[in-house]
Amino acid sequence: MEQTAQSKKAPEQFVPFTARLMAAIRAKETERADRLFVDPFAAKLAGEEAFTVLEKQLTPQDLAYVAVRTCFFDDFLLDVCDRANQIVILASGMDTRAYRLPWSSQTKIYEIDRSFVLETKKSLLKDVAPTCQHYTIGADLTQPWSHLLLEKGYQPNLPSVWLLEGLLMYLAASEVDRLLETISQLTTNDSYLGLDSINVKSIEYEPYKGYFRFGCDYPEELLLKYGWLGKVIQPGDEGAYFGRYTDKLPPREVTDVERIFLVKAQKTT
Ligand code: SAM
Repeated sequence: MEQTAQSKKAPEQFVPFTARLMAAIRAKETERADRLFVDPFAAKLAGEEAFTVLEKQLTPQDLAYVAVRTCFFDDFLLDVCDRANQIVILASGMDTRAYRLPWSSQTKIYEIDRSFVLETKKSLLKDVAPTCQHYTIGADLTQPWSHLLLEKGYQPNLPSVWLLEGLLMYLAASEVDRLLETISQLTTNDSYLGLDSINVKSIEYEPYKGYFRFGCDYPEELLLKYGWLGKVIQPGDEGAYFGRYTDKLPPREVTDVERIFLVKAQKTT
């Protein structure tokens, strides 16, 4: 993604805007003859500015990554939802999984993001019915939020699934720690978690410098501290290729490489 210093938004504007940018990428994917998924709501949720930024500043590989990530986590959630029917999507942005995936009537999806992001999505999708029991919570995830989830009926003594997609890189390290600690306090040992994370080298990657704040070379170790056994793969690897992510990353022991990781984890303690 190329972006000049002059055109950079302030982080408090750019970070919520990335929700629309992700929707624009999913809309573009939906238009492809060889699409990996259909998100019928993405174009409406993206809005004009996001398509302009996408056309001017994103690379084909940026688009491929988000397409692969979407499929990867769609499959993950559908795979585990029979075992854990409370799904919590943190920083859900313009995610439409509550509307476009085939959930059972027992599935509860809780979405948390900043209020204005969720209000925008709600008003744009006001005529669309969710395919699950659906709850939204406006909150700043760097401040206490678990009481809001509990108030909506989330049951911490039952298994749950958590998704942190496109979130951790925008938080400070101490905020990531607090978030994982909070999630661990809210989960039983048969719960699941999915996330993506950049490595440390990628924090300084222009033009995201100033927006990206957290990177981690070994997400397995980070998760283990909070009781999660994680399986980490890189886009392009088997299971995260989907015939689309063609710039395969070198093996992880190769240093000085910008990387992004896709992670599935299960609670062990
Ligand atoms: N998960 C969605 C997706 O993959 O399309 C959105 C990802 S978007 C890259 C980043 C999202 O993180 C935005 O929706 C933004 O509002 C949310 N976010 C970042 N920091 C946050 C915070 N402190 N509290 C709540 N939401 C936050």
